[in-house]
Amino acid sequence: MKLVLASGNKGKIREFKQLLDGEILAFGEVIEPFEIVEDADSFAGNALLKARAIYERLGDEYIVISDDSGISVPLLGGEPGIYSARYAGVEADAKKNLYKLIDEIGKLTDKTPSYYTAAIAIASRYGEYVVHGWMHGDAIASARGDKGFGYDPMFIPTGYEQTLAELDDEVKGEISHRVQALALAKPIIDMLQKK
Ligand code: IMP
Repeated sequence: MKLVLASGNKGKIREFKQLLDGEILAFGEVIEPFEIVEDADSFAGNALLKARAIYERLGDEYIVISDDSGISVPLLGGEPGIYSARYAGVEADAKKNLYKLIDEIGKLTDKTPSYYTAAIAIASRYGEYVVHGWMHGDAIASARGDKGFGYDPMFIPTGYEQTLAELDDEVKGEISHRVQALALAKPIIDMLQKK
C-alpha cells in the first residue's frame, strides 16, 4: 500500500520525508488538492478529519497520514493552539501569525512556558489511529534565526539557549513534537504495510 501525507505545508512535507525512510507522497502529488474544513475542537479531531477525507477520495490501496499541530501558550489561555495556522486571520501567512503571537506575549512578558503539540492520524483499510507528541520550552517576545518554519524563531526548547530557528535542523529532528508522534506512528504504519 502507498503512503500519502495529507499536507500541503512544505515545511511539514520536508520533515516527514526526512523522518520516514519509506517513500511517502504529498497528497498534492497524487490528486488535485481540495479544501478540507478543519472544524474539530482538538488536534486529534482535525488530524482525523484530514486523513479520513483524503483516504475516502483515494481508496483502500492507500495509507493516509495526516498531522495537525500547533503551539500553545498557557499564559494566553492556550492560544493559539488549534488555531496556530490562522492566528492572525484566515488569510494570514506564517510571518503574520508569528508576529501576532510575539505581540500578544510582549504585552505581558518577554518569555513564557509554551509547548508544541502534534497529533498524527492514520486512515487505512484496517481502521483509523491517532497518536500525539509534544515539545516543551519557552516562547519569547522576539524572533531569532531563519531556520525551521512557523513559530520556530520565537521558541526555545527546554535544555537549549537558542530558538528552533537558530538551532540546526538535526536538533529539531531529534526533539520535535512531530518526531515524538512519529516514533509512535511508525510501528503502526509498519504493521499496516505488512498486513
Ligand atoms: P496545521 O497545518 O493545521 O497543522 O497548522 C499547524 C500550524 O502550527 C503551522 O502553520 C505553524 O504555524 C504551527 N506549527 C506546527 N508545527 C510547527 C513547527 O514545528 N514549527 C513551527 N510552527 C509549527
